[in-house]
Amino acid sequence: MRPRCDAIDTGGPAAEHRAHGLLGKAIAMEMQDRTVIVTGGASGIGRATALLLAREGARIFIGDIDETGGNAVAAQAAEEGLAVEFLPLDLTQPDEIAGFAAAVHREVERVDGLVNAAGWDRIQPFMENPPEMWDQLIAINLLGAIRLCRTVLPPMIAAQHGKIVNISSDAGRVGSTGETVYAAAKGGIIAFTKSLAREMARYRINVNCVCPGPTDTPLFQGQPERMREALTRAIPFRRIAQPEEIAEAVMFFLSRRSDYITGQVLSVSGGLTMVG
Ligand code: NAD
Repeated sequence: MRPRCDAIDTGGPAAEHRAHGLLGKAIAMEMQDRTVIVTGGASGIGRATALLLAREGARIFIGDIDETGGNAVAAQAAEEGLAVEFLPLDLTQPDEIAGFAAAVHREVERVDGLVNAAGWDRIQPFMENPPEMWDQLIAINLLGAIRLCRTVLPPMIAAQHGKIVNISSDAGRVGSTGETVYAAAKGGIIAFTKSLAREMARYRINVNCVCPGPTDTPLFQGQPERMREALTRAIPFRRIAQPEEIAEAVMFFLSRRSDYITGQVLSVSGGLTMVG
């Protein structure tokens, strides 16, 4: 483990964020000296995660197919004095995944954390799905994360240190009408997380999974209004999540607070699902 810094750097906006409300009491930033890759960081949950981690002191590499969004997040972060870099990445292209990881490893010896947050979905009854859509759903939501893990793991294994957080979905735990193959891919992510966690435990690498419920992002806003309303009514808290609320759970799994937790699946869904 790297040493933690003992006091807030009171010089920058990131430190101000952490110090806010603490009446000047010096505490360490949670992700100080950590380097983390966040896929899907150009938007929604990935974006909120990248910014939260950076505000807690991490150096972030965003990989995303959306260059405009990715550059905008990096620019916003730079204005706040945060260390967020954007590198283009199409997770459906194995060569791009290898090139992305190589570019990151040219800048840092190894990453401390990987957040597989990129995802894609279209709501449609299974019997109407064009088969090409299945390929796309599985390539982005399942194989992309698997390939990136395979590429990022060797330096983590050598260092016997690292944390991986995969973003699945409650659709992968309990199923979801109109999201049949998406749910299959997300269920695959859960099974992958558990098995990888078992294999990586001997190297002291934690692998965990966060399952967001309905969350206020472009992905959710793209769903039919009727479905959005029905989901909101079904949530015990009677509101959908903000992306920042999912990011908090991701940061927990990346932080030292979860050092003894691996292979777990955490739903952050306002109580929509309560899986035993
Ligand atoms: P979003 O659309 O806001 O963000 C998804 C990001 O993934 C985008 O920046 C997009 O450009 C990127 N992406 C898509 N295809 C890619 C590709 N081929 N290569 C690289 N990047 C690609 O969606 P979000 O809601 O923030 O979703 C984040 C994660 O949370 C996804 O894995 C999603 O499945 C999951 N999730 C979201 C919800 C929800 O209600 N929003 C619910 C459950 C799970």
